Amino acid sequence: MRIARDLADAVGNTPLIRLRRVSDETGCEILGKAEFMNPGQSVKDRAALFIIKDAIARGTLKPGGTIVEGTAGNTGIGLSLVGASMGFKTVIVIPETQSEEKKDMLRLAGAELVQVPAAPYRNPNNYIHYSQRLAEQLAQTEPNGAIWANQFDNTANRQAHVETTGPEIWEQTGGKVHGFSAAAGSGGTLAGVADVLQPKGVKIALADPMGAALYSYYTTGELKSEGGSITEGIGQGRITKNLEGFRPDYAYQIPDAEALPYIFDLLRDEGLCLGGSSGINIAGAVRLARDLGPGHTIVTILCDYGSRYQSKLFNRDFLAEKGLPVPSWMTRAPASIP
Ligand code: PMP
Repeated sequence: MRIARDLADAVGNTPLIRLRRVSDETGCEILGKAEFMNPGQSVKDRAALFIIKDAIARGTLKPGGTIVEGTAGNTGIGLSLVGASMGFKTVIVIPETQSEEKKDMLRLAGAELVQVPAAPYRNPNNYIHYSQRLAEQLAQTEPNGAIWANQFDNTANRQAHVETTGPEIWEQTGGKVHGFSAAAGSGGTLAGVADVLQPKGVKIALADPMGAALYSYYTTGELKSEGGSITEGIGQGRITKNLEGFRPDYAYQIPDAEALPYIFDLLRDEGLCLGGSSGINIAGAVRLARDLGPGHTIVTILCDYGSRYQSKLFNRDFLAEKGLPVPSWMTRAPASIP
């Protein structure tokens, strides 16, 4: 094993883990890329690192400077940890609705947290627009300046997956990969991996949660959404810059009631503790396995670690209140969580 120079150098090169039950049931090899094994426990460490390196190369991020971002949590955790290892400060704007565990982790990682009420993208007080304004303001007042990371429209994010995730999947499978499935938040993972694998003949599937508009866009040409999802970090309502030019070969709309049982079973039977977006991705991989037929290898993304959602996804009262399936083994919320 090589020695990483620093934390930033330890991002990526995650293992592929065979998901036993879904592989056996579909007759395909369904492999999960264990992104929860990144230093910040999510796939977003890759985007954070590339956004920071790009801003340094452009000269916009100066030594001791501040990185500002609007994030559902994971990008913020990545920016804070990678930023700390390189001497930058972070200010994170997060919708109040995101899990308390992610907010705690952000504070622990040294981020200054600004919580805003959840509002749609068209609302000027949406967390993304708010973070852009805050970055412009801090660029004037912070002694070493400030930048806006802008993960949704900054294509350094997609480039991270073009240069790392996509090639890693190709090399780890020895080129024996036929399908890839993922949901989109910014779309960086999906479009960046597709840039590498689609030209090699790999079929790319979008796994869209309810409440997102991409499934409708890629099947009818119209951005329309219906329903909702408890998953965090995914569910896009527009074509971000990171999604421009991307086209999936298959598109699936996945209800939470289909996705979450995979997460519960994987924790109980295979020791994998995953967040909800991984469930959407796995459900997409299973649907793609059915469409391609037995004998194929399909890779999906295990986006982040499940402990980040203990008070929601792994809380029987929360699930019951949302009308979602509750596994018999699941306990009530820990007493410390209201
Ligand atoms: N899952 C989780 C838990 C996330 O936080 C994110 C990013 N917000 C994604 C999936 C989607 O990744 P991307 O932004 O590359 O589309």
